[in-house]
Amino acid sequence: MKFSNRKSNKLENISNMEASFTIFQALTEASRCLLCYNAPCSQSCPADTNPGIFIRKFRLKNTKGAIRTIKENNIFGGVCGVVCPTEKLCQEACSATKIDKPIEIGKLQRFLVEHGWETGFKPLERVPLRKEKVAVVGSGPAGLSCAAELAKAGFKVTVFEAREKVGGVLRYGVPEFRLSSEFLDREIEDVTNLGVIIKCNSRISSGGVDNLLKKGFYAIFIATGLLKAYKLNIPGFDLKNVMDANAFLETARSKNRYLITRLVKNNNVAVIGGGSVAMDVANTCKVLGAEKVYCICLESFAEIPAAKADLEMARDNFIIIKPQSQVTEILGNNNNVVGVKGTETNWIKPNLFIPSNAKKVPGTEFNLKVNAVVMAIGSGPDSGTVDLCSTIRYKKNYLIKIKKDGVSTFDKDIFAGGEIVRGPALVVEAVADGKKAAKKIIKRFS
Ligand SMILES: Cc1cc2nc3c(=O)[nH]c(=O)nc-3n(C[C@H](O)[C@H](O)[C@H](O)COP(=O)(O)OP(=O)(O)OC[C@H]3O[C@@H](n4cnc5c(N)ncnc54)[C@H](O)[C@@H]3O)c2cc1C
Ligand code: SF4
Repeated sequence: MKFSNRKSNKLENISNMEASFTIFQALTEASRCLLCYNAPCSQSCPADTNPGIFIRKFRLKNTKGAIRTIKENNIFGGVCGVVCPTEKLCQEACSATKIDKPIEIGKLQRFLVEHGWETGFKPLERVPLRKEKVAVVGSGPAGLSCAAELAKAGFKVTVFEAREKVGGVLRYGVPEFRLSSEFLDREIEDVTNLGVIIKCNSRISSGGVDNLLKKGFYAIFIATGLLKAYKLNIPGFDLKNVMDANAFLETARSKNRYLITRLVKNNNVAVIGGGSVAMDVANTCKVLGAEKVYCICLESFAEIPAAKADLEMARDNFIIIKPQSQVTEILGNNNNVVGVKGTETNWIKPNLFIPSNAKKVPGTEFNLKVNAVVMAIGSGPDSGTVDLCSTIRYKKNYLIKIKKDGVSTFDKDIFAGGEIVRGPALVVEAVADGKKAAKKIIKRFS
C-alpha cells in the first residue's frame, strides 16, 4: 500500500500527500544519525516516541524492532511523522545539526510506520480482556491514544464519537494534501485492531458522562477538543462569503467540496490569521483554483506561528503573506464580499502576540479586492460541552480544569486531555495526554 505521490510543495491536486522516503533514502538518512547517548531528540518528544531508539534500531537493520518502538510508544506514530512540527520538537534538539543538518526524524518515522503496513508487520497484539470497562468521549488523537493504551492493558474500551467519522480534527480539519483519509484510516485500524470499539454518531450530551458511570464504566476520559471557531467581530463579518476556517476546511474535505471550489475558483481570497490553520486554508484555496490568496496576520515574518513546512508550502504556492497587518473592515456589495480594508500594525509591548497588544500604524491603510474572507483566528470549546458531567470543574473559557498531573479532573473517575484541557495544541501533545490518562487509569485498577 503506497499513500503518497506528490513530489514537491507545489500543490496540483487536493488529495495527494507528499511522497514518503524510499527505503534507500530512509537508510541514507538514518546513516547520518550520531546514535547519541541520552538522545536529545528522544527527550524532546512530548509523547515519548523515542526517535533515538527507533533510528538506532533501523540503522542496525532491525527494521521490525524500529517499527515496534514507534507503535508501542505512539499509536499515532505515522500521523505524527507527517504532521508534527518537528523543527520545533525532536529535530530542533538533534545533535547532527551541529555538523550538518538535523536528521529528518518525522520522515523516517512515517517511512517506518508505512513500511510496517506495506509488509503486513503487526507490532502490537491483542491481550486477554479484563472485566473493567472504560469510556472515551471523542475520537481525536487524545481519545484514541488513551483508548489504544487501555486496550493494550486489557481494558474493554468504547469510544463515543459525535461525528459520522472517526479522527477529530485529523479527519475534519487537516487537508487531504497533508494527511489523506486513507493514511488516517490505516492508522486508526491499528487502534481498532487492539479491540477498541468506536461508536460514531454517538454524541455524549448533557449529563451523559454521569450516565456512562451509572451504566458501569469504571472510568471516563474526556477528549472533546475545540469545536467552536472564533470570528472577528468587525464590520462586514456577517456578509455572505465570510467563513470560519473550521467550516471551510471541513467542507473542502467533504463531498460538498464544490461549494468551496465555487467560492474561491478564479477569485481573490483574504485569509485572516498566520498560524498553520491559516496556511491550510490558503493552500486549499490555491489548489482549488483561487487567483490571489492573502494571509493577513498581526505577527512579523519572524514571529508567524505557522509550522515551517506549512509556510514553505504557502511560499511555493504563491500565497501572499501580509505580516504585521490587520483587517479592520470587510467590504460588501449586495451582501457579497468585494474587498477588505486594513492597516499595518506594530506591537505595543514586545513578545506579547495578542490582538489587544497591536496598534495601528497611521498612514499605512490598505484596501484589497477580494471575493471571500476566511477567518483562521483560533477555536475554543463549545459551551455545550460544560454540562456533559456534573462532577468536574471548568474554567471561565470552558476548558476543563485539571490537577497538576495534567489529566486528572476533580472527580477521581474522570480524566481529560487534549485541546479541551490545553486549549490549542499539537497532535503529539494530545497523544501524550491520552497516554498519561491511560497510565493513571491502569494504575487505579491494578
Ligand atoms: C486545520 C487544523 C490543522 C492542524 N494541523 C496540525 C498539524 O499539522 N500538526 C499538529 O500537531 N497539530 C495540528 N492541529 C492541531 C491538532 O489537530 C489538535 O491539537 C488535535 O487534533 C487535538 O486533538 P483532540 O483529541 O484533543 O481533539 P480533536 O481532534 O478536536 O477531537 C475531538 C473529538 O471529540 C468529538 N466530540 C466533541 N464533543 C463530543 C461529544 N459531546 N460527544 C462525543 N464526541 C464529541 C469531536 O467530534 C472530535 O472528533 C491542527 C488543527 C487544525 C484545526
Ligand atoms: S539527536 Fe539526532 S543524531 Fe542524536 S540520536 Fe537523535 S536523531 Fe540521531
